[in-house]
Amino acid sequence: MAVMPVYDTIVIPGATVYLRTQDYVKGTGRQPVTGERVTFVVEREETERASLTNESFYPIGSSGTITEVNGGGYIALRIQNRVNIDEVTVLQGGSISLTVTRRPDVDDLDVEEAEKRVRSMRDAILAFCEKYQWGPMIRLQAQHWNTMWEIAGALSPFLYAEDSEKYALLAEDTLQARFDMAERMLRENLELARVNTEAQTAQQEDYQKLYREDAIKKQMSYLQKELDGMHPENVTDVRRLELKLEEAGMNETALKEGRRVLNRLKSEGGQGPEAGMLMDYLELLTSLPWQKTEGERIALGDARAVLDRDHAGLEKVKKRILQQIAVMTLRGRQSGSILCFVGAPGTGKTSIGQSIASALGRKYVRVSLGGVRDEADIRGHRRTYIGSMPGGIMDGIHKSGVSNPVMVLDEIDKLSASYAGDPASALLEVLDPEQNSNFTDHYLNVPFDLSDVFFICTANTLDTIPEPLLNRIDVIQFQGYTPLEKMEIARDHLLPKAMEAAGLEKKDLEVEEKALEKVIGEYTREAGVRGLKKRMDMICRAAAVQLVEEPGKAVRVTEENIRDFMDMHPVRQNRVPEKTKPGIVTGLAWTPVGGEILYIQTLLTKGEGHLTVTGRLGDVMKESAQIAVSLVKAFFPEQAADLKKSDMHIHVPDGATPKDGPSAGITLTTALSSLVTGVAVPPDVAMTGEVSLQGDMRAIGGLPEKLMAAQRAGVKTVFIPTENREDLKDVAQEVRDAMKIIPVSSVEEVLSYLGMQVYTLTQAG
Ligand code: ADP
Repeated sequence: MAVMPVYDTIVIPGATVYLRTQDYVKGTGRQPVTGERVTFVVEREETERASLTNESFYPIGSSGTITEVNGGGYIALRIQNRVNIDEVTVLQGGSISLTVTRRPDVDDLDVEEAEKRVRSMRDAILAFCEKYQWGPMIRLQAQHWNTMWEIAGALSPFLYAEDSEKYALLAEDTLQARFDMAERMLRENLELARVNTEAQTAQQEDYQKLYREDAIKKQMSYLQKELDGMHPENVTDVRRLELKLEEAGMNETALKEGRRVLNRLKSEGGQGPEAGMLMDYLELLTSLPWQKTEGERIALGDARAVLDRDHAGLEKVKKRILQQIAVMTLRGRQSGSILCFVGAPGTGKTSIGQSIASALGRKYVRVSLGGVRDEADIRGHRRTYIGSMPGGIMDGIHKSGVSNPVMVLDEIDKLSASYAGDPASALLEVLDPEQNSNFTDHYLNVPFDLSDVFFICTANTLDTIPEPLLNRIDVIQFQGYTPLEKMEIARDHLLPKAMEAAGLEKKDLEVEEKALEKVIGEYTREAGVRGLKKRMDMICRAAAVQLVEEPGKAVRVTEENIRDFMDMHPVRQNRVPEKTKPGIVTGLAWTPVGGEILYIQTLLTKGEGHLTVTGRLGDVMKESAQIAVSLVKAFFPEQAADLKKSDMHIHVPDGATPKDGPSAGITLTTALSSLVTGVAVPPDVAMTGEVSLQGDMRAIGGLPEKLMAAQRAGVKTVFIPTENREDLKDVAQEVRDAMKIIPVSSVEEVLSYLGMQVYTLTQAG
C-alpha cells in the first residue's frame, strides 16, 4: 500500500484531492495506478522527505483511492476513511512503513440542513467567481459539488488557514462539528477574497482614472498650445492667465486659490460684474516673484568697497552692516536681527539701504510708512472691498520682482494706530523671522514667504516707535554730519552726481572748496545733507545755463561769486549772539531733525512769587523749570527773599516747535541764577544736562547731535554731565576740537565756573 505524506492539505473523508503526479511519485516512491489505495499521513510541519522522522506526523491520517491518473500530470484521489496511525517508521532513504487502524466518524449530521447549506455555499462561490471573473476551472468544478467535504477538498490549496486548522477538520470525530468548521473556514475565505478583490479593483480603478486624467490633461494642453500657436491673436485673457497661473511656481495654497478664482472667472465670463476684479487679482497673483531670487553670496571685501563707494564716513554704520552681511553669509539666510536706521533727515539712511542692495547684488525697494494709520496699508484690504488692493509689503515685493529684495521700510516712527487696526502689529508680523515665511496679505489671501527679504527700517526718532516694534529692531544711530564731512560728501558724491544729472562734464565746471564751505555754512542749516544736495543741483543748473549761452567756457564757482549761483538768500543761521544780558543762557536740544541750540530767557517782574512758563514746553520741561526755581532759591538765599515780591517768567523762543525732555534742567537753572545774581553768562557757553533736586547733573541723550549743533552755532564752551563722558567717543574729532567740553557732575560746578557765588547746598542742608 502507498503511503503519501502531505502538509497543509485537507484530506477529510468525502473530499477529492488533486496532486501533481511527480509529487505523488516523490512522496510514495511509486508510479500512480488507478484504483490503488493510498494512506495519507499529515506532517506537523513542512519537512524535506529526507529529514522526516517518526515524530514528524500527526496521529490521525486518512486513506483513499486513486480515481484518475491524468495525462496532464495530475492525479485525483478520493478520500474514504480516517485512520489512527498506531505505528510509524521512517526508514533510511525516506520510505515510510505504517501500522494503522480505521478511525470511525460519529455521524450526527443533519442531512437536510447540510444540503441546504452546501447549496448556499456553492452558489456564493459561483456568484463570487461570476462577479470578479475569477477561477473558470473552479466554476466548472463547482457544478458538481454536492458536499461540504468536496468543496473544502477542492479549495484546499487556495484556503488561507493554519495547517493545524486544516488538520483539526480531520481530527474532529463528529460530522456535524466537522461540517460547521469547514463551512466557517470557507465563508471566512470567501469574505477575505471578496475584500481583497474589491480593494484591488478599487485601486486599479483609481489608478486608471488618474492615468486617464493626466493623459487627457496633457493632450488638452498640447492641443491648446497648438491652437494658440496657430492663432496667437485669439489667446484670451483668461487662457493667458491660466497659463501664467500654472507656470508661476507658486505654493500649493496659492495655486489652489488661483485656480478657484480662475474657475469663478470662467463661469462668470469676461463680462460679469466681478470679472475685472477677479482678473486684477489673477494678474497680480501670477506676476508675483514666487521663486525668483537675485544676488549671490559675496565677499565681505567687495561689500565694503560698494558701501565706501557710495557713502563717505558713516564708519560705525558700515561696520554694523558688514556684520549683518557676515552673519547672513554664515547662516545662509537672513540674520535674525532687523536693522533700524535712526537719525535726522538727509543723513543717508535710505540711500545706504540702496547701497546694501547693490553690495549684495539684490533688488532694492522702498516702502514708505509715513502717515500709515491703517493695518490694511500694510497687509491689504480683503477682496470684498471695492477697489481693494494689496498692502505696501506685497506691493513692494511685486515692484521689486524678486522674493529676496532689500526692502527699506521708511519712517516707522510715523505709524499711528487707528480704528482700522494697528499697523505696528501687522508690521511686527512682517518682520518676525518666525512668522514671516507665511505672511498673508488680506487681498492676496494666500501665504507668501518673506523670509528671504532683507528688511531695513528707518526712523527719525525712537520716541514714537511703538514699544513692541522697538523691542524687535536693532537700532543704528545716524548722527548727522560735521561741516568737514559735509564737505567731503559734497565734493566727492553730491556734486559729481549733480553734474552728471545736469549733463555737465568734469571740464565744464569747477567749484572751489571755499565756495563749498560757504554753501555748507551759509546756504544750509541741517544735520543731514538734503539741502546741500539741492544746492549742488542748483549750482549745476545755473552752470548749465551759462554753458549753453557761452559754449566751451568752463564755469568756475568761487567764494566770491557763489551768490550768483544760489537762487536764494543765505539761510538765517542759528548762531550765538555777540553779547547777552543776565538771565539768558544757551542750551542744546535734540530734535528728530538733528541737534539744535536754543536760548532760555528769563525775566523778573514785580509780583507775588508766581512762575510763568511759555514757549510750548512739555510737562517734563515744566517740571525742570520748577526744580530750577527751587534750586535757585536754595543756592541764593539772600536773593530768594526778593523773589517773593516778584513774578518769574521763563521763555524758550521758537514757540512753534513743541519742546520737552529733562535735558534743559541745567540751562534753566543757570539762566535763573544768572538772572537773580545779575551775572551774565557768555553766549558762546552752552550746556546740557538733567538736574536733580539735590543739584546733581544727570546723563542725557543725543550728545553727538547736540555738540554738532553747538559747533554749527559757534559755541566755544560746553558743559556736559560727567555721566555722558563715554559718549564723547562717538563725537567727531573735528567737533571736539572746535570747543572746550567740560564734564561736570553738579550744578554748583557750572555756576562757580561762570563766576556766581553759590551758597552750597551742603551748607544749606
Ligand atoms: P535719509 O533717508 O536719512 O533722509 P537720504 O538717504 O535720502 O537720507 O539721503 C539724502 C541724500 O544725501 C542722498 O542723495 C544720499 O545719497 C546723500 N547722502 C547722505 N549721506 C551720504 C554720505 N555719507 N555720503 C554720500 N552721500 C550721502
